[in-house]
Amino acid sequence: MAIPYGRQTIDNDDVDAAVAVLRGDWLTTGPAVRAFEEAVMEACDVPYAVAYSSGTAALHGAAFAAGIGPGDELVTSAITFAASGNCAAYVGATPRFADIDPATWNVSVATVAAATSDRTRALIPVHFTGLPAPIRQLRAAHPDLVLIEDAAHAIGARQADEPVGACRHSDMAVLSFHPVKTVTSAEGGMVTTRDAECFRRLLEFRTHGMTRDPARLERDEGGWYMEQQALGYNYRLSDVHSALGVSQMRKLERFIERRNAIAARYRELLGDLEQIELAPEPPPGERHGRHLYVIRHRGGAAARRRLYDGLHDRGILVQVHYLPVYLHPWYRDTYGYQPGLCPAAEEYYAGCLSLPCYPALSDEQQDSVVEAVRELS
Ligand SMILES: *Cc1c(COP(=O)(O)O)cnc(C)c1O
Repeated sequence: MAIPYGRQTIDNDDVDAAVAVLRGDWLTTGPAVRAFEEAVMEACDVPYAVAYSSGTAALHGAAFAAGIGPGDELVTSAITFAASGNCAAYVGATPRFADIDPATWNVSVATVAAATSDRTRALIPVHFTGLPAPIRQLRAAHPDLVLIEDAAHAIGARQADEPVGACRHSDMAVLSFHPVKTVTSAEGGMVTTRDAECFRRLLEFRTHGMTRDPARLERDEGGWYMEQQALGYNYRLSDVHSALGVSQMRKLERFIERRNAIAARYRELLGDLEQIELAPEPPPGERHGRHLYVIRHRGGAAARRRLYDGLHDRGILVQVHYLPVYLHPWYRDTYGYQPGLCPAAEEYYAGCLSLPCYPALSDEQQDSVVEAVRELS
């Protein structure tokens, strides 16, 4: 049986939770959406959360709520899923890319500073693989910029005694509930914030830019009356998805512990391979979210390709996260980006490989992955 690099962990109680909604009164935007938002607010220790139909839609909502638009630049990491940059393009702004720090594979204050200009309006640091990025330091270095954490990999991670998503040093944080992420609602995303005005804009953007808040309506034409005051979308998450999300959130602690145990075993069983660099560890006092367990082959592109192909031949479906975003053809054609922009990101990309890491991975399966990596690298 094939071993994927990541997959969901769905138990009978998750199935029952989704089915119960199908038998009820609401299929979309009923009580389960609010319950899912509340579960995330509690886990992240944050006063507002708005569910979206995907993490990508949530990033779009965050860029809108921040008021970013044409003429603005937004800086994200070169090593991330393309959606972290696409949200800038969605609102007419220009995505720029900060290189990674080779010690953490996250952006650093120095790499972000090198990517900013006087047009920079927002930063979207990514907690890559679930290792917290230096949010406090970025906030201190750029107090006038909007700071949106891409926390798609990092639900359950902790930094400076706070859960990622608490937004004590950022304006918003964005989560994803895609099935390979730590907690899933099949498709889904969420934005957390401490800012009441951001919260309102996020809610309206999710539903066409419509409001029925009496305090905000231009006129009162009756009980049915609502106004579209901005251009929004239908980015709502359904109650079916949300019920699955609520059920999954109950297992967050267990999921994070199991993922960290798998990472510790990889460290123990692969630590002696000179040609393999293991995933960076969190500093004392921080907790890694472990969405991904990435290794880097020091032999570069050809060695990594042999390792990837050899593992796939054995049914071990490792993956590469990620091609530096600016090297995608659309980014090169649209913004004129060229290879060489972020040298550390390109060197990382040449050797990186994500090994299987998810709660249902058994020790025996992990042993077979380790054996194959040792043989093929
Ligand atoms: C998964 C992911 C997203 C997008 O989330 P979706 O729910 O798949 O739309 C955004 N950023 C990062 C870093 C991701 O890994």
